[in-house]
Amino acid sequence: MSIRQLSETMINQIAAGEVIERPASVVKELIENALDARASRVEVVTAGGGLNLIRVIDDGGGIAENELPLAVSRHCTSKLSDDIHDIRSLGFRGEALPSIGSVARLTIRSRTADAPHAAEILVEGGRVEGPRPAAANPGTLVEVRDLFFATPARLKFMKGERAETSAVTDVVRRMAVAFPQVRFTLSGTDRTRLDLPGETGENGALNRLAKVLGAEFPKNAIAIDAEREGVRLSAQVSTPAYTRANSLQQYAFVNGRPVRDKQISAALRAAYADVLPRDRFPVAALFLTLDPALVDVNVHPAKADVRFRDPGLVRGLIIGAIRQALSEAGIRPSSEGAAGMLSAFRPGGPGNAASYQAAAPYAGRAAPPAYAGPEHSPYRPLSSGFGEGAQATLDPVAAPAADARAGEIEAAAELTRAPLGAARAQVHENYIVAQTDDSLVIVDQHAAHERLVYEALKRALHSRPLPAQMLLLPEIVDLPEDDAERLASHAETLKRFGLGLERFGPGAVAVRETPAMLGETDVQSLVRDLADEIADTDSTDMLKERIDHIAATMACHGSVRSGRRLRAEEMNALLRQMEATPGSGTCNHGRPTYIELKLADIERLFGRR
Ligand code: ADP
Ligand code: MG
Repeated sequence: MSIRQLSETMINQIAAGEVIERPASVVKELIENALDARASRVEVVTAGGGLNLIRVIDDGGGIAENELPLAVSRHCTSKLSDDIHDIRSLGFRGEALPSIGSVARLTIRSRTADAPHAAEILVEGGRVEGPRPAAANPGTLVEVRDLFFATPARLKFMKGERAETSAVTDVVRRMAVAFPQVRFTLSGTDRTRLDLPGETGENGALNRLAKVLGAEFPKNAIAIDAEREGVRLSAQVSTPAYTRANSLQQYAFVNGRPVRDKQISAALRAAYADVLPRDRFPVAALFLTLDPALVDVNVHPAKADVRFRDPGLVRGLIIGAIRQALSEAGIRPSSEGAAGMLSAFRPGGPGNAASYQAAAPYAGRAAPPAYAGPEHSPYRPLSSGFGEGAQATLDPVAAPAADARAGEIEAAAELTRAPLGAARAQVHENYIVAQTDDSLVIVDQHAAHERLVYEALKRALHSRPLPAQMLLLPEIVDLPEDDAERLASHAETLKRFGLGLERFGPGAVAVRETPAMLGETDVQSLVRDLADEIADTDSTDMLKERIDHIAATMACHGSVRSGRRLRAEEMNALLRQMEATPGSGTCNHGRPTYIELKLADIERLFGRR
């Protein structure tokens, strides 16, 4: 076969494969263009998860009629001077519009401030029509219909409307946090409206964060401002009491550009390693500012990856600054009265890292330290909502039931030496009041027990292969070849979780078994998500996370409700169990399961010291 030059459309479609992965990528590129044009208002409308329609309208500088053909031509950009190492705009590759035009029906209608009227250009599967005069206000409207109609193979890999819609929302939220002064709206048939008015004034950035991450976030966040060798970190990070089950609420920006960077999320994880259980994630917005020459954003056409000249410096800065801020946040001014009393109460979990560490020499773990003795634990399995058989699974929680005689609070003197002390009373049918040698401890029994059941279930689940459920007919899942390859190379691990799959020719896997506890599962979406996850992290954590999530749900149903009266030995057993269980200092939702008030603080409250 003779060698020939690819057609312009083919070249653009190949580029589109990388730049435009899914509807959210289109939304991201179009918002970037609007922001580069200095818009103060960006309006996004979508339908059908963005696959049917994406429309982005801005009030920025606009494109002159005679430049419209250039805007949709490859490698044409108004943004790059001639130094690839000094990029100060969001776009610079001149690829987005031609790529979109090659795989969808694209309309651009634009008007510069001084033009007498607007002009419009159409691109359909690479074919250009126009420009021609049109009516519009100054600014730009870009409309993308029938995304991937020209590349049906790509269309097949979309995850479904709901997933695409939430990816689009995520993009808008990230952009909105980076540009608080710009008004963003998101509407259309896909969602309830998102309307973020432009924030002006000093607290603009914080107000925007509160709108995007929830009003509770700033109340639970610590501000950070740090600098090391010319790299500046300004951030809002949550206290360990305010966490999530995944990292979706972690936002990172490098020189104002939203990025998804593994080194940054790893640094965040490391910063909290001592104060959070492994399965909890802090909420955070990190803004890194550095000389553009010290960071490469041209790693991937989608421009979401970055490469730092000195990754160790950035990592050290993030970890150091967060750890310091966490520990400083624990130092509270001593005050009097009710407020003083509240601050004297130390969250027992990692709820307040620094004071927790100060209060407890066993610092840093989410669980109170294990207490060895007294030997027997008169713990009775609390009625947990599981059947008899299931109780066996809960072994670690259901410590041996002994011959507890009612009313006998035994060895109490000795128990006060345990970290959570001896149970003295139950109040409001949910709070266990206990006494140690030098403090008063209050335990939320429901939260504590829920955590214990969850930990026990998880241990059981991860310690041996999970039961699998044979499919009547193997299900064939078509995938990009490298995804199929990655899945096959993890087949053994997946099998442990009850997912049995194998290669099925090029670009496909055959699934023979699924994890029984997932019940009726959408095999296609499970396998595709897993492929993504493995590509992302090269691990099978997601399946583990899904299973952990189920364990958490079961635990919630299986644990002691508040309102149940406990006998003294049940209370003491719960305390001992907490001491023995890592992670029990917080409930499954990240709230502390107990708080501790030091006797010295009590004395101070009463003016005795
Ligand atoms: P890039 O953003 O990398 O330059 P694009 O293909 O996204 O490449 O856009 C090409 C050019 O079209 C931009 O450089 C800019 O001049 C112009 N352009 C695109 N969108 C807009 C917009 N919303 N407002 C003003 N100009 C725009
Ligand atoms: Mg662009």
